[in-house]
Amino acid sequence: MLNRVIAEDNIQKAKKLVLNYDKVVIVTHLAPDGDALGSSLGLYHFMMELGKEVQVIVPNDYPAFLHWMPGSKSIVNAEWHKKSSEAAIADADLIFCLDFNILKRSFQLENPIRQSKAKKILIDHHLNPETFADVTISHPEISSTSELIFRFICRMGMYEYVNKPCAECIYTGMMTDTGAFTFNSNSPAIYYIISELLQKGIDKDAIYSRIYNQCAEGRVRLQGYVLYEKMKIFYGYKTSLITLSEEEHLRFKPERGDTEGFVNIPLSMGNIVFSAFIREDRDVVRISLRSKGNFPTNQFAAEVYGGGGHLNASGGEFYGKLEDAVKKFEEALPAYKHLLE
Ligand code: 5GP
Ligand code: MN
Repeated sequence: MLNRVIAEDNIQKAKKLVLNYDKVVIVTHLAPDGDALGSSLGLYHFMMELGKEVQVIVPNDYPAFLHWMPGSKSIVNAEWHKKSSEAAIADADLIFCLDFNILKRSFQLENPIRQSKAKKILIDHHLNPETFADVTISHPEISSTSELIFRFICRMGMYEYVNKPCAECIYTGMMTDTGAFTFNSNSPAIYYIISELLQKGIDKDAIYSRIYNQCAEGRVRLQGYVLYEKMKIFYGYKTSLITLSEEEHLRFKPERGDTEGFVNIPLSMGNIVFSAFIREDRDVVRISLRSKGNFPTNQFAAEVYGGGGHLNASGGEFYGKLEDAVKKFEEALPAYKHLLE
């Protein structure tokens, strides 16, 4: 039996909404990742099984290595279909907000969601959720929103409506948010859930391969370049920093999401506990932070860049020059030395 995590009154309130409303919209955060899409499409397949009218809306495009996901073709990208996505949100009677804690993370969908008369259910695992929804299911102790979707469905007593595509999406989100079960993945319940998903017919090895073994040549060469040429190590701080300008990135035929995972690689060194990747991305500089052990990357992200995230994985944005974002990083580091011993 799966242990109970979501509060019973939240399950009951949400179940009532699920049973009573038919026009369902599912939204997730900007730059959707495997868990954002896994939870959204997992819930999509479940709702379709229930016979609902369902629309998944994303604020912008997502990496090519996620395009295979079942249901992906039915997703509406709000960047390309502004009017129809806003109309769907206004017209919905139930909106699920998945894998983000504050509405700002849904970017241009924030106001349409606030203004919609639809009932709202938030399901997420980031700290400090904004309380805009009718039901807030927020569990930072759970490693993925996709796991929460599985738990949510089971607790409503609807496990039988989890079909194979639903199970594949949920597995994808659980896998990608734990680095293929290499961090935040010590809970025995994770493996209980995986065994349930296997019963639904998923091929977990094939899913791993679709996510991690489909890189373009440019990405693999870019990885070599950033590690060999661009990685700086701050030995006194057990910290590494990789920076990448847009001009450098362009040399490698860039694709969306092709720098994903680079930030994790320096942590494979025994003497590194904090890794940063700072990348110029058109009009914004994106900061990705990772750590192993107790170093609070989310505190660093919040204090230095006004960003946020989890203890070991967080990020932020910087509006300005790449050099200034890097300077900010280097100047901030000494204040965190006591946490990097
Ligand atoms: P990534 O490095 O993969 O872009 O982001 C890792 C995690 O950091 C995300 O799952 C999210 O929780 C958090 N994160 C990334 N960028 C931002 C940001 O700009 N603001 C906040 N609040 N969190 C972010
Ligand atoms: Mn997530």
